[in-house]
Amino acid sequence: MQQPSYPDQAARQRAIDTLRRLPPLVFAGECDELRGKIAQVATGRAFILQGGDCAETFDGVRADAIKAKLRVLLAMSVVLTYAAQVPVVKIGRIAGQYAKPRSKDDEVRDGVTLPAYRGDAVNGFEFTEQARRPDPERLVRMYNASAATLNLVRAFVKGGFADLRQLHAWNASFVRDTHVEKRYEQLAGEIERALGFMEACGVDGETMRTVDFYASHEALLLDYEYAMTRIDSRSHEPYDTSAHMVWIGERTRQPHGAQVELLRSVHNPLGIKLGPSTTGKVALEIADRLDPTRIPGRITFITRMGAQAVREKLPPLIEEVEASGRKVAWVCDPMHGNTFETSKGFKTREYAAVVEELNGFFDVHEQLGTWPGGVHVELTGDDVTECLGGAFRLSEEDLESRYETTCDPRLNRNQSLELAFMIAERLNH
Ligand code: PEP
Ligand code: MN
Repeated sequence: MQQPSYPDQAARQRAIDTLRRLPPLVFAGECDELRGKIAQVATGRAFILQGGDCAETFDGVRADAIKAKLRVLLAMSVVLTYAAQVPVVKIGRIAGQYAKPRSKDDEVRDGVTLPAYRGDAVNGFEFTEQARRPDPERLVRMYNASAATLNLVRAFVKGGFADLRQLHAWNASFVRDTHVEKRYEQLAGEIERALGFMEACGVDGETMRTVDFYASHEALLLDYEYAMTRIDSRSHEPYDTSAHMVWIGERTRQPHGAQVELLRSVHNPLGIKLGPSTTGKVALEIADRLDPTRIPGRITFITRMGAQAVREKLPPLIEEVEASGRKVAWVCDPMHGNTFETSKGFKTREYAAVVEELNGFFDVHEQLGTWPGGVHVELTGDDVTECLGGAFRLSEEDLESRYETTCDPRLNRNQSLELAFMIAERLNH
């Protein structure tokens, strides 16, 4: 499902052949390392922070945008690490998030019908016949954009940009200079003291300066993901070398669908999005198809129930999965169940609804005695105005000023940091 129909099949084959000859973007050993970390999440000893754009764009492959996004994610992870007192596994929706599933094949504007935008990997966002035609050459551009992004991310996280003290200084000024709730000052102050203590003890090496950061995206386009699947020379097993982790979306997670069929053969850690209609039976069927031998860290269930449904729908799902004895990482995506359109046609989300779903997620896990393993959010490092509310109380009128997403609305820099402090409070007690 959700595959583009290319008018030119010869061009499609050329793109696939090109991709097959290009080097892998990640190494199998890195995927194994991430799987090991997710295994720790599944047993309550680590927490996942996964985030980034709903849809990356080729235009967005710029140093400042990548840097801002990375900085927000790393700054959030400092707060979460302190609060959870366990390692935070940092995974970007980055360096490959270029393909989008759509609920409608066509888009109608002023009486004109054109194919829907399916992400820069498939067609252009511009509402013209030319731009909206699926072009397989874009698969190769997706590879190049991913490679350039991942290269910069790798340089940043190992080259000193991820310095803990710097990141905290940034969080502290955020708490001081914005109008976030007063109670966050205490948490920021505590982190300050903990860092001072570590420094005084002489903890001042690599661990303060570098982090491990992983790339992930939705494995939607079979041509691309299959072309990037390679046999690891050490283990002789296949890996999808387009990213460390890939996930299957809510629209393509059919147990006998093509995405599941492809990914059951690769050894990467996998995410599966689960919406409010998911039964425990189906979730287990998907997990059994993808991971019959129950490899630790292989499966992450990313639940996206919506603020209204989470307290009702999540408990039976968790109970049924847990009863099977299978250990998965439970991650909350508080974004995709809370999207609506304003009267002016902006797709948006309320910051309060995002918080409400997260509170439901934490409450349910607390009641069941299971570990709330992480969060999956759509965010950007820029000061966009796409989601409503937050400390700056963005209103519907504000959406018009900087609405830049080509797909779903993202939390802006301040809303993201505010959310990190909110999650920290839940992890703290
Ligand atoms: C997404 O993550 O952008 C997405 C489309 O999510 P879902 O598959 O959960 O709807
Ligand atoms: Mn999205």
